[in-house]
Amino acid sequence: MIIKELREVTVPLRGNISNALVNFSEHTVSLVAVVTDVVRNGRPVTGIAFDSIGRYAQGGLLRERFFPRLLAARPESLLDESGRRFDPAKVHACAMRNEKPGGHGDRAAAVAALELAFWDLNAKLDDEPAFQTISRAHGVSRVRDDVDVYAAGGYYYPGDPCAILRDELLRYRDMGFSAFKMKIGGADLAADVARVEAALEVAGDGSRLAVDANGRFSVDEAAAYAKAMAPFGLRWFEEACDPLDFDANRRFIEGYPGAVATGENLFSAADVRNLLRFGGMRADRDIFQMDAGLSYGLTEYGRILAEMDAHGYRRARLYPHGGHLINLHIAVGLQLGGCEAYPGVFQPFGGYCDECVAGDGRIAPSSAPGFGLERKPELREAIGRLLA
Ligand code: MG
Repeated sequence: MIIKELREVTVPLRGNISNALVNFSEHTVSLVAVVTDVVRNGRPVTGIAFDSIGRYAQGGLLRERFFPRLLAARPESLLDESGRRFDPAKVHACAMRNEKPGGHGDRAAAVAALELAFWDLNAKLDDEPAFQTISRAHGVSRVRDDVDVYAAGGYYYPGDPCAILRDELLRYRDMGFSAFKMKIGGADLAADVARVEAALEVAGDGSRLAVDANGRFSVDEAAAYAKAMAPFGLRWFEEACDPLDFDANRRFIEGYPGAVATGENLFSAADVRNLLRFGGMRADRDIFQMDAGLSYGLTEYGRILAEMDAHGYRRARLYPHGGHLINLHIAVGLQLGGCEAYPGVFQPFGGYCDECVAGDGRIAPSSAPGFGLERKPELREAIGRLLA
């Protein structure tokens, strides 16, 4: 088996929404294909994946550095022992040849999109959904094939913020979601408290509502928000301070008794080790949101899980950032705590496909081979362009 071709197309995110720091209307995502010489039903078996939501496409890095390294490798050097599948760890090592450690930046997402396409490919070669391939490769015996899911949204829109937020969460409730996440930090504290109170009218209880500040606060601002939010008994408080300032995270936690969530902007096992050593995270309540699509793919994510295991943090505490099909397969395959969903936003990548079974605040992937991206109608045009 050989790689015949590696491709990338840059796909803009649809929508014009903002959190405390970022407007997503300029954001793009890299959709990547690995085309093999294996032919089934008259077509080459092709792995497809993308880096995650919330950063930018990586076409330049892929075409200039990572594609040429894989295409120059001896084909058999990238295969597993059976010779019938690719070994994603070997793909990762080959892509990272001649790269210094640390300072991950955009290359972490570029390598992730590429490495994840090989997981999709392996699952298609075995004609099974990717979560089964992922479980087997990681020695995981699944207890169930669905995971907890919550609806993330609550961005800042023009108009009456409380009424808009209430309407938005009511729509999610009508779709069957019973837990929600909203943004904070894009308004002043009093306005955000009013928004949280409005959201609680729909959520019903703090345990069904999380808030996300996207790393916007100074230590002092975070302390003021901690004091104001603590009485609500929220599901979690996400990214109060800069995600790489672990001491700020520790100080925030000292003033906040409820659950805290972070990790979506950590891109390596070494970053996570530092969070566990210095960030004050508590094994009995806090949530970790590292995202394989932003952090070199599943090979590095496996190393991150090993760090978590070694420090005594259970996999149920992991809720990967992203809210898309790839992370749903990863969450089910590795039996993580759950995943997020962005109903109606971050298209064409956000959300799941109609065949994914949702209900009772849980969601299950479909039985389509691989990540099933071809079954998501919103992705059809971009995949068609990728494979044209
Ligand atoms: Mg977040």
